[in-house]
Amino acid sequence: MIHYKTKEEIELVRESSLLVSAAIAEVAKVLKAGMTTKQADAIAEEFIRDNKGIPSFKNYNGFPFACCISVNDAVVHGFPTEIALKEGDVVSVDVGVYKNSFHGDSAYTFAIGSVPDETKKLMRVTKESLWKGIEKALPGNRMGDIAFAVQEHAEKLNKYGVVRELVGHGIGRSLHEDPQVPNYGKRGTGIKLQEGLVIAIEPMINMGKKEVFHDEDGWTIRTKDRLTAVHYEHTVCVKKGEADVLSSFTEIERVEKANPYLDSSYN
Ligand code: MG
Ligand code: MG
Repeated sequence: MIHYKTKEEIELVRESSLLVSAAIAEVAKVLKAGMTTKQADAIAEEFIRDNKGIPSFKNYNGFPFACCISVNDAVVHGFPTEIALKEGDVVSVDVGVYKNSFHGDSAYTFAIGSVPDETKKLMRVTKESLWKGIEKALPGNRMGDIAFAVQEHAEKLNKYGVVRELVGHGIGRSLHEDPQVPNYGKRGTGIKLQEGLVIAIEPMINMGKKEVFHDEDGWTIRTKDRLTAVHYEHTVCVKKGEADVLSSFTEIERVEKANPYLDSSYN
């Protein structure tokens, strides 16, 4: 069942989503080679709690951390670890916040040190494919229009692998609500989009093939060919004229650019 949001509810999702964005920006300020992803997780959790939010992922189906941090061949649901990041790592930071009874959800991928051109291209194309999907989040369109836009850009035009097993989702009082928001599909199919539909659009795009597997930690999803995967996510409300993006990359991108230990040249 889909829970369409009222104006007031949309503003509460926005508040949670902007706290997610601010938490990711806090991580981006200090992210560098030598740091562990457990340290990054702790920074995000402290920031969220200092701002009266609760990390949505912590204890979600038993997940033990505030953030999913997925490095290199890890696509999503990565476990923060004691392993130090190194030059050339590609790190996706996925954060959820619960505040005022509503969740927000967003993810951003960073490059540590400097990365090869082919990695930069994967990052750029994945971020572009997110925006292509967001452009279709308009009333009267169908879910398949969003899915097709993401897939066309990532897979058809750029020959990357689009993960099938994991999808975006509705979001609100629950972290994961109906409907599913796949990153692959046919134009003109699926549910008709209406104002007040709030969804997380989150392309998970692989440098190589689309196949993934579950790591033995029970959570981390990795590419089968062990090539790099990238993940960007926004919480978005369907709105006439232009979709309303409730999370924001503005501050994250500013901090990413200012951090000399990150490669932001893909943007
Ligand atoms: Mg997320
Ligand atoms: Mg999500």
